Amino acid sequence: MIPVWKESTRLQKEFRGLIEKCIFCDTPTRTWHENTNNPVCVKCAKVKKVSDIKEDWGKLIRKQKRNGTFDREDLVRAN
Ligand SMILES: [Zn+2]
Repeated sequence: MIPVWKESTRLQKEFRGLIEKCIFCDTPTRTWHENTNNPVCVKCAKVKKVSDIKEDWGKLIRKQKRNGTFDREDLVRAN
């Protein structure tokens, strides 16, 4: 299982309704794996593992988590 967080309505507005596609199944999704900063839908999150994620865009996020400056804003845990 991959832990995923869901974008809030406010964030969706900020990105003007842009929807990214799940990296596994190409379905447009509002949920994200935080530590690698990849869009992962809830269905795939259920059956995949974090180690299945090939690309890593989360260097900054993990750095912020380490030094305590990470702000999750109003993302909510989706699974
Ligand atoms: Zn998917």
